[in-house]
Amino acid sequence: MLLQIASIGLLADRLLTEEFDAVRLWEQPDAWLTRHGAEVELVATSVRAGCGPEMLAALPRLRAISSWGVGHETLDVAGARARGIGVATTPEVLDDCVADLAWGLLMAVARRIPAADRHVRAGEWTEVGRFPLSTKVSGKRLGVLGLGRIGAAIARRGEGFAMEVRYHGRGPKPGVAHGFEPSLRELAAWCDFLVVACEGGPATRHLVSAEVLEALGPGGILVNIARGSVVDQAALIAALEAGRLGGAGLDVLENEPGAPLALRRCDNVVLTPHVGSATHETREAMERLVVDNLRAFRRDGTLLTPVRA
Ligand code: NAP
Repeated sequence: MLLQIASIGLLADRLLTEEFDAVRLWEQPDAWLTRHGAEVELVATSVRAGCGPEMLAALPRLRAISSWGVGHETLDVAGARARGIGVATTPEVLDDCVADLAWGLLMAVARRIPAADRHVRAGEWTEVGRFPLSTKVSGKRLGVLGLGRIGAAIARRGEGFAMEVRYHGRGPKPGVAHGFEPSLRELAAWCDFLVVACEGGPATRHLVSAEVLEALGPGGILVNIARGSVVDQAALIAALEAGRLGGAGLDVLENEPGAPLALRRCDNVVLTPHVGSATHETREAMERLVVDNLRAFRRDGTLLTPVRA
């Protein structure tokens, strides 16, 4: 039996029902898991709904989890591995769109595009040259925190803007031309734009600390398309309010959904509501990959895109 923990999207929901006769947990009575948990062999879920230790404990015959999204901090990957349960996410198909959005945020903050748009709409474009100058993007220094699949796609786009790129992570990546910086603080001090693209979860919580933001400085811009938890948001707000940071482009925040007033009223902050992968094309590809992983597992017991962490 396949248990679907949450709605994944119109396409995936339909295919899971047609091909797997999926049981939709959110449509079942409260006692369903206790009565039927032992019949479940496959789970379809999403990074938002997750599949944590309690759910795993309720599914003693579970063999595979297919999750929509690339983050796996809401999935009990270690618990699943200990029981030989396969876990798949939907990586790679979203790299381009998330990297594109990171660049959109970077450009929007540096060139003050939303502020300029507000200026024109408010009827304030009454004389030439009244809007304040902004920050040049091309030829600057780009720092990437987490040169994974998405981080690498962000770095590749930097080459088109004639940027020197350096990165930070747990260690240098073999065969990568960009410079590795063992200290995130040093990377922030070196670069003009710091883009956060590492995974979320406890290990990366508040990696972008007050000290890192201070090193980035009043001329620096922070872009976060990874997880809100990676940035110390209180320190970020303090740095922005004190003029100790040049600006920020944020697709993800702590305590989503919603953004604190302090960020919403900063003119040098551009906010998007966690929409890195949210294009028609990419969302369709993600939904298809959730189903393709389950098809592959049913066919021969393998997953196409297993979590390797
Ligand atoms: P990935 O290929 O697994 O890359 C993750 C990177 O995180 C790795 O390069 C890793 O670098 C780095 N990392 C992990 N632990 C770290 C640590 N303790 N310190 C420093 N760096 C660390 O994942 P991906 O597919 O590129 O996705 C990256 C993240 O983007 C996801 O986990 C997700 O949270 C986020 N995301 C956001 C959106 C959105 O809509 N905004 C969409 C998709 C994904 P090392 O191995 O070198 O340490």
